[in-house]
Amino acid sequence: MKVHSLLSPWGRFGLHTYFLDTPEPAIVDTGIATSPAEGMAPTLEKLGRRIEDVRWILLTHGHIDHIGGAHALWELTGRRAQVVIHEADAPMLRSRRAHVDEYLNGRGRYLRDPDGEAKQVATAAKVISGEMEPTLLVRGGETLDLGGGTKLQVHAIPGHTKGSVAYALDGHVFVGDAVQIHGAANGFPGYEEPAAYRASLQRLRDEIRPNRLYLGHPYRRTDGTPYGVELDAGQARAALQESLDIEARVAAAAERAAGDESAFAGQLGYRGDPTLEPSPFFTTLHGYHHEERP
Ligand SMILES: [Zn+2]
Repeated sequence: MKVHSLLSPWGRFGLHTYFLDTPEPAIVDTGIATSPAEGMAPTLEKLGRRIEDVRWILLTHGHIDHIGGAHALWELTGRRAQVVIHEADAPMLRSRRAHVDEYLNGRGRYLRDPDGEAKQVATAAKVISGEMEPTLLVRGGETLDLGGGTKLQVHAIPGHTKGSVAYALDGHVFVGDAVQIHGAANGFPGYEEPAAYRASLQRLRDEIRPNRLYLGHPYRRTDGTPYGVELDAGQARAALQESLDIEARVAAAAERAAGDESAFAGQLGYRGDPTLEPSPFFTTLHGYHHEERP
């Protein structure tokens, strides 16, 4: 099976989506509203493939840069593609408002930006191509038949979001943003549920064991240098281990800082701008604050 990376504009590093050249062609993640027509269609044409033949739209999670183009892509397939998302993140595909509420209930509480809600409403209106009901809800554990005996496994790997999934096919594993290492543009790893994030990283390392790991963004090492977005088995193991090591440091700092934002930043020596959207610093801090303690 051949995999082709399709880059969508987003933030400072863009989002990587992937075309799977399977008997029933699939695209993992969709970028923003303009990505399918302006980015994907011409790239596929150069590969001798047609966007209208895509039969699977596989969403790794509900964040705006991953689902924004879903409706537009689905339209380009004549509404014939299956649109797949975990049920916990499906509200993000059904409704633009869900993105605004997620902001207000999470990082928005710390950012206290008086224009925050209006900015989120405007972004959702622009970036999301349409609200829609997914055609196939998954929970992890499913096997999808991409034609000609090509079987793709769905694994639940919550943490970055509640409904994050990995799609695995012949050792190729697509995880979206579920392996954060040190984060991308903001230099901080973003996850909503720390304990679930840790468990999912361990599961990827010990059970799923990718031969090739595909990431949504070029995440950074602690020293600031980026990993690529397509990692071989050795690089994948290193990225998973480094993600776990970083999570352990962040957890320890969260424990010591006991909810104080600047103490948390100080413990970690964090010098990025925590208010830059998507503000993973505050999403993650909020996750530790509200984590159930054993
Ligand atoms: Zn994300």
